[in-house]
Amino acid sequence: MAGLPLYQYAFIDTDELVFSQRVRYICETECPMYNTTWACPPAVGSVDACRERVMAFEEGLLIATITEVSDIANIEETLATRADHEEITRQVLMMVRQQAAQTLTLSTEACTHCEHCTWPDAPCRFPDRMFPCVESHGILVTDLAEKHGIEFLAQGNIVTWFSLILYK
Ligand code: SF4
Repeated sequence: MAGLPLYQYAFIDTDELVFSQRVRYICETECPMYNTTWACPPAVGSVDACRERVMAFEEGLLIATITEVSDIANIEETLATRADHEEITRQVLMMVRQQAAQTLTLSTEACTHCEHCTWPDAPCRFPDRMFPCVESHGILVTDLAEKHGIEFLAQGNIVTWFSLILYK
């Protein structure tokens, strides 16, 4: 992974993950993408179902990227940095897949691959490229990052994105 523009990364055990109904509640009440794609609740299932899916894996790789923007309060500019993070996530996933038989990738926000998501009327068009949001699974990813010494840069005009790639 030396050639990739990662801020930091850490290998984690899924035993460390905390699944919180509170995180899901924030999806439901504060995220405008709730109930809009296959990558979000309720499409991803209950927090218990997400936990079961994740805990089928014992290990994972947490990756973080950072990007400086001119004004972090500018939502459009901030969200525009996400595409690069998703591409880096995809590249790391390709590397992990060279060593692992199965993977599960959780990433950022809702899926934006299609202009109009098929949810809930038809199956996802690109299930292999669709990465559900980490928070959609009830996981408080910033806590996990801090536990592994990955500083969450919430200050200034730095945008930090996380992805979690589980493998076995
Ligand atoms: S790949 Fe397309 S159909 Fe699948 S979740 Fe993303 S936007 Fe929806």
